[in-house]
Amino acid sequence: MSEKKNLPEPARHGINFAFREKLDAMAEGFRHNYCYQCGACVADCPAGLYSKTFNPRLIMLKAILGFEDELIGPDTEIWNCTNCYTCSERCPQDVRPVDVIIAMKNLCVKEGKAPDLVTTVSDTVFEAGITTKVTSLAERRRQELGLGPIKQYPVEDLKKITRRD
Ligand code: SF4
Ligand code: SF4
Repeated sequence: MSEKKNLPEPARHGINFAFREKLDAMAEGFRHNYCYQCGACVADCPAGLYSKTFNPRLIMLKAILGFEDELIGPDTEIWNCTNCYTCSERCPQDVRPVDVIIAMKNLCVKEGKAPDLVTTVSDTVFEAGITTKVTSLAERRRQELGLGPIKQYPVEDLKKITRRD
């Protein structure tokens, strides 16, 4: 058995500092560096209650160790976070795990690795200021029900703020 095989998993693979630096460059992404693994964020996490594998403490540990492949992608566990912010209220270190998770989600989008559903919804928000495209069927049904047309939202400012124009 090689000496490397006896090492704990992170040490065997080596810490991926390149990923940590990438995450640090995203807004609030640097906060994972403050985590001392106390687990206070786990108990009341609603996503953790419904999933056997979702655990914000472990997500922070994976960020610290640079487990990029387990965090960045369309099917990774970060997408199960509900953005409820309970973890941020519990954390004694002001890590704000949810903000780190959002930074990871933003990194996924930046690298073209977000789930299709997420990119479709965000594209619709940029086009129309709402999350779901208004189909001609929906417009016809509204007319039948005596409802007015759906309000058009100005999206120019949104595009300017996000530099997406
Ligand atoms: S924001 Fe996400 S990680 Fe934090 S408690 Fe809510 S579901 Fe869990
Ligand atoms: S509560 Fe904060 S310091 Fe404790 S494990 Fe969670 S993120 Fe890390």
